[in-house]
Amino acid sequence: MTKQKEQRCGYVALVGRPNVGKSTLLNHLLGQKLSITSRKPQTTRHRILGIKTEGDAQLLYVDTPGIHADQARALNRAMNRTAGTVVRDVDVIVFLVEALRWTVEDELVLSRIAGAGLPVIVAINKVDQIDDRDTLLPYLDQLAATLRAEQGLQVRELVPVSALQGANLSRLESLIVDLLPAGVHLFPEDQVTDRSMRFVAAEMVREKITRQLGQELPYSAAVEIESFAQDGEVCHIDAVILVERGGQKAIVIGKGGERIKKIGVEARQELERLLGGKVMLKLWVKVRSGWADDERALRSLGVIDGE
Ligand code: GDP
Ligand code: MG
Repeated sequence: MTKQKEQRCGYVALVGRPNVGKSTLLNHLLGQKLSITSRKPQTTRHRILGIKTEGDAQLLYVDTPGIHADQARALNRAMNRTAGTVVRDVDVIVFLVEALRWTVEDELVLSRIAGAGLPVIVAINKVDQIDDRDTLLPYLDQLAATLRAEQGLQVRELVPVSALQGANLSRLESLIVDLLPAGVHLFPEDQVTDRSMRFVAAEMVREKITRQLGQELPYSAAVEIESFAQDGEVCHIDAVILVERGGQKAIVIGKGGERIKKIGVEARQELERLLGGKVMLKLWVKVRSGWADDERALRSLGVIDGE
């Protein structure tokens, strides 16, 4: 007779300063693209639950927006709040740092998680960038000392990884599984996110805008899905890109409409891969003046969660 193994299920927060690789890591851990990534910090605005069921364990990953030292604008304030609340209602924290780097923003994240009273796994990312492996050891010593000095922090393990190349991620995952509480699975095993495809579609469009226009737009534009309808084999998606100023509208549209066309083609291809079928994507650009400074507008766009 085989003994039935106990089910485990729990929430896992991926925290770390902007650009450290949280979204890349989440995508690799899930084995598919859910979270948008780019070189530009602050790409991730929303909490997205990434669900991974592996045998008896169900991991519910929370990708958090970065915690920023600069809180000047309402958008940053809103994102900081979202990031701050995330670490309270999870079971395990994965604290992502970049190999050979330690900044004031890392320090800030550390101070936010230290008081949470939760088990922490420190993942040292981007080890693929290191030419000389010998430099990693003194860095690890220094990091361990910094972590030890933090009152109340419960570091269980330090694990070097490459989110980009997928190196050492199964080791990371098994360390996380070991820390998950016993509990029944909350989602069916084939479900990969708690977000609607509508939401994921908006994120995809936003990612393409950020990738193509990162330097030219101070914040990536907001995207609203006006309609999302399946008609036989084809999924029809109408999306509005919201920018702050007329000048930005012109940038998004581009000369002769070339830029927006390219954004549309790339987003459509990605969505077709994700949805496994044909997609008709229509994009518009609208100016919504001052949206980045208006918390109410942010709320209506879903940037501020659950308030
Ligand atoms: P986030 O802001 O923490 O979500 O960071 P992203 O996942 O958006 O990644 C920021 C940048 O770092 C992107 O250009 C990624 O391709 C890059 N990146 C992430 N992980 C790795 C890694 O393991 N190695 C290298 N070389 N680059 C990485
Ligand atoms: Mg991100």
